[in-house]
Amino acid sequence: MITLKSEEELSYLRAAGQIVADVLAELREVIITNPGITTQELDRLAESLIIRRGARPAFKGYRGFPCCLCTSVNEQVVHGIPGDYELQHGDIIGLDLGVKLNGYYGDAAITVALGEISGEVNRLLEVTEDALYKGIRQAKVGNRLFDISYAIQSHVEKNGFSVVRALVGHGIGRHLHEEPPIPNFGKPDQGPRLKMGMTLAIEPMVNMGSFEVKTIKDNWTVVIKDGKRSAHFEHTIAIRANEPEILTLIKRKR
Ligand code: MG
Repeated sequence: MITLKSEEELSYLRAAGQIVADVLAELREVIITNPGITTQELDRLAESLIIRRGARPAFKGYRGFPCCLCTSVNEQVVHGIPGDYELQHGDIIGLDLGVKLNGYYGDAAITVALGEISGEVNRLLEVTEDALYKGIRQAKVGNRLFDISYAIQSHVEKNGFSVVRALVGHGIGRHLHEEPPIPNFGKPDQGPRLKMGMTLAIEPMVNMGSFEVKTIKDNWTVVIKDGKRSAHFEHTIAIRANEPEILTLIKRKR
């Protein structure tokens, strides 16, 4: 069942979402200004920033995941486990973060480039983020769920990249993962009707080359089969009377 949130519940989701956005913005700044930082150091920083804001990390302990932050470098798609890897010039890193505050969840992801990256990798990041916003634009009353999926897939494929099929977005609220699953591919005008008060975590995962992925031996990290690069952007959004509201918007100077 897809739950519809009241204004009061939306205010809780908004508060959780803002913490996710703030922490991701801070992590991005730290990554850009501290080459050589390890993914484990990022995880520790994320945890302290979350706790300082009175929230709890949502991923730590979720189905046994050991950390607060998913750090997915280069050919890693999602669910990378922080460790002693030192980030270096030319890497891209996906940061996926969830928090729980007052019983409600926020979930978002960004992909950050370190220093100079090739034009093609830069284009991968831009296309993935633009695809997210194109999907969000379809999240309005009267549309159907796969209008979001179709907008994402068509933008990605028009630009010569592929969308991961094995992992999808999700509803969010009192649980980190709620109904409905939100694929990043599909035909328009299909799936459930979108209604006011639905809250969705929309998260395109986009690969250079093939969409095929596999999970490595740590049982978490999802990587591209053909070893090319992958990007991931995610927002938690609410369907409102008019425009969708992005609950995890990072106030950025770009
Ligand atoms: Mg998510």
